Formats: sequence, structure tokens, C-alpha cells
Amino acid sequence: MLFMAKYVFKCSDIGMNCGFEASAKSIDELMPKIVEHAKTAHNITEINEDLKNKVTSAIKKKMF
Ligand SMILES: [Zn+2]
Repeated sequence: MLFMAKYVFKCSDIGMNCGFEASAKSIDELMPKIVEHAKTAHNITEINEDLKNKVTSAIKKKMF
């Protein structure tokens, strides 16, 4: 059996007043998109441990 999973991140899930949403097939693929968005949209150039944990726990896995 092959399951297709999708990882979804919403900026609003970490308390940002922002409509950004990103999805990818793996967390490894999703992370760079979030980092890039944080940089361009929120001026966050350094993702510290605290923020990384927040982001990681906000990522939802969806099966379809
Ligand atoms: Zn955002």
C-alpha cells in the first residue's frame, strides 16, 4: 500500500496575522519554503530553536 502524504503549514497557526500557507510532500521540502517566507514577509532572518519548535508543531500531515 502506498500512502500519499502532504505536509501543510499555515502562518496563522503560529500566531501570525498572515494568510500564508505552504505545502510539500515532506518536511524537508516544506522547511525551506517557510524559512524563505519568514525572511521575505516577516523579516525573520534567524530561525531560533523556539521558533523552529513552534513551526514544527504547527505543521500538519494530511493524507489523501
Ligand atoms: Zn506569514
